Amino acid sequence: GKRTSLSLKEQRESLPVYAMRSQLVQTVRDNQFVVIVGETGSGKTTQIVQYLSEEGFNLDENGNHKIIGCTQPRRVAAVSVAKRVAEEVGCNLGQEVGYTIRFEDETSSKTKIKYMTDGMLQREALNDPYMNKYSVIMLDEAHERTISTDVLFGLLKNACTKNPNLKVLVTSATLDSEKFSKFFNDCPVLTIPGRTYPVEILYTREPELDYLAAVLDSVVQIHISEPTGDILVFLTGQEEIDTCCEALYERMKVLGDTAADLVILPVYAALPAEMQTKIFEPAPPGARKVVIATNIAETSITIDGIYYVVDPGFVKINAYDAKLGMDSLIVSPISQAQANQRSGRAGRTGPGKCYRLYTETAYNNEMMANSIPEIQRQNLSHTILMLKAMGINDLLNFDFMDPPPTNTMLSALQDLYTLSALDEEGYLTKLGRKMADFPMSPPLAKTLITSVEFGCSEEILSIVAMLSVQTIFYRPKDKQNLADQRKARFHHSLGDHLTYLNVYRSWVLNKYSKDWCQDNFIQERSMRRAHEVRRQLLTIMKKYNQNIISCGSDLDKVRRALCSGFFKNSSKRDPQEGYKTVSEGTPVYLHPSSALFGKNPPYVLYHTLLLTTKEYMHCATVINPKWLAELAPTFFQVADPEKANERKKNEK
Ligand code: ADP
Ligand code: MG
Repeated sequence: GKRTSLSLKEQRESLPVYAMRSQLVQTVRDNQFVVIVGETGSGKTTQIVQYLSEEGFNLDENGNHKIIGCTQPRRVAAVSVAKRVAEEVGCNLGQEVGYTIRFEDETSSKTKIKYMTDGMLQREALNDPYMNKYSVIMLDEAHERTISTDVLFGLLKNACTKNPNLKVLVTSATLDSEKFSKFFNDCPVLTIPGRTYPVEILYTREPELDYLAAVLDSVVQIHISEPTGDILVFLTGQEEIDTCCEALYERMKVLGDTAADLVILPVYAALPAEMQTKIFEPAPPGARKVVIATNIAETSITIDGIYYVVDPGFVKINAYDAKLGMDSLIVSPISQAQANQRSGRAGRTGPGKCYRLYTETAYNNEMMANSIPEIQRQNLSHTILMLKAMGINDLLNFDFMDPPPTNTMLSALQDLYTLSALDEEGYLTKLGRKMADFPMSPPLAKTLITSVEFGCSEEILSIVAMLSVQTIFYRPKDKQNLADQRKARFHHSLGDHLTYLNVYRSWVLNKYSKDWCQDNFIQERSMRRAHEVRRQLLTIMKKYNQNIISCGSDLDKVRRALCSGFFKNSSKRDPQEGYKTVSEGTPVYLHPSSALFGKNPPYVLYHTLLLTTKEYMHCATVINPKWLAELAPTFFQVADPEKANERKKNEK
């Protein structure tokens, strides 16, 4: 194709942002804050930091080495972009160009350009509040409004008052520039001229009952009846994407030689690195490419050659209900702004088409104009713990662009208090300070720390590592029974956490064997990732002098340690059906894939809730109710059902 014959230099110079190179560099020289707006694919993420590096921003006036940092809301994007830029610069990844994401650091003392997740930079602020390592920090994808980016707005604005040499760039794909500029002391806004083609929007006449089926129909129809051009499909998560890819293979088999080749490429966070590079390669001559992606393809990564977008209109978000006091992964309708970003992906190379699998009425009347920033809908206990550890106690006066609801803040403070991370006056305890050192949710951090006291840190480390990866088991359509039988061999009668421990131990005993994984329907790459996470956690534990001790066969210790962090996620069997949470009495259910399904023990704790047709407890373990009162006395003062009722009455 035309594009592959262009050299990397030519490709760089053909990007819209290139025309603004000198203006950009000068504006950064003259200002401490700059907001930059530009269409997805205009070159913001890959080019701007390179321009600044080429212009000498890696040295300060005294000749000291400084890093140019760029944050990304998603770790896949941080890695993918770092790889691309290392290639453009012509260095090995981890040398002049590197990245840092949770549990993975690919940087060196030579690193000039560093991509990282916004969560990692927020963590760096714990030890380097004025960002002295950096000359420039670019908060990229600011329109995504993740909690960490929102917190960094406030932290960096403050850091700039103490560190006058620091520059902060805020980049966004949408036109919320006014708001960003206003927040950063009315700083200049640069707009990169767009280069886009018209996109024809097609709606369905009736709402789709089964959007996965509708996706398959649309893709096949485009493939057999539309001119050349690649297809991009938006789905909500890994499982859905894998299912869709499998079904699409089947459909293509049926079509046989009557249709051209279709190259099917899934894109999601847990994808191995070699697959991630493949999505950018053009399809072979005569073939068409279909990329089936999560929301990551909305603005974070750009794939060239897309002419058709299929958009079912959903996204998976982590939502927090302050009243119920619960976090839950839910599939939710996208906003109009997101729908427009998605359709825009079809108009980058030429005029395109977007198939919206919802009605025009739904778009106009049911979708919100913009999505709600995460900070206003998610659990804030992790964020607040970090801020407290930075010495920021007056949270109500923290400089938030959009402050979170007071209720959400109060319930996060309460959570931290019941975890003993804060004292009665809201100050960080010793335990709380230790918890802040672990890059994970407060309940997990607490569990890890308690496990040292209980003498089971060896086991808890493996369990926490296993919990940090997405899917362990898989069930191929044609072998579901066999897969279930194999899985049942690992089931522990006391629940899923110990089942995970069994799996991890067996995998190690079987010398990390790939064949063993295959025989047992276990995702090998999830195991390898869990292993890597465990190794990293071990490093953190050693750094903070936490001993690694095994409890041998006394697994009650493990369950008690889990209880010390997750007591809030406990539920009691309901005489009618399912379970009710101990604190608020919300109905929840054991998932059919749980080792406890059908056994219905009187009390369980769970890792997270997953809302599909019902609120399912994901990863459940039998507990003794006595442990709750013993390990979390303050929680049960707060969670007294009578008091909870009173609270609810007052709220109404
Ligand atoms: P923006 O941040 O403005 O959305 P980017 O800097 O991410 O734009 O991308 C600019 C261009 O670089 C894209 O149009 C794409 O062609 C190319 N590009 C980015 N990442 C890769 C990659 N990993 N492989 C190949 N090309 C890439
Ligand atoms: Mg970008």
